[in-house]
Amino acid sequence: MLVEPLLTPNQQLVLRALADAASPLSAYAILERLQDTTIRAPLQVYRALEKLMERGLVHRLESLNAFVACEHAGDHAERPVAFAICESCGWVEEFADTSVANGLDLWSKGHGFIARRVTVELRGLCGNCNEVAK
Ligand SMILES: [Zn+2]
Ligand SMILES: [Zn+2]
Repeated sequence: MLVEPLLTPNQQLVLRALADAASPLSAYAILERLQDTTIRAPLQVYRALEKLMERGLVHRLESLNAFVACEHAGDHAERPVAFAICESCGWVEEFADTSVANGLDLWSKGHGFIARRVTVELRGLCGNCNEVAK
């Protein structure tokens, strides 16, 4: 993956830890993985995460209270970010689906609602775990 040149060293460490992880990480799990680096305190992790989220490079999964590296290097255009989360193996897929976006737009306009932030999280079983269960 690309390392953003404008990120601070701490931000790069946090982003890399998330990119290397197979599943979403909590702030403390990130701190644990970075304990041999310059990052020593939870606050440093939170600060880095905040900046990375502002740039769309990291997303917070609300239902897990955990973080993932963006699969599109922060390039979301106007699409809301949606996630499918497997509750069995921890697999997470980030996706942007225009029909989901359009449906939410339509509802908001119809109800005079201005959406500032959209979080779509599907929780369930991924294709693999689904197969095993059969
Ligand atoms: Zn993303
Ligand atoms: Zn699974």
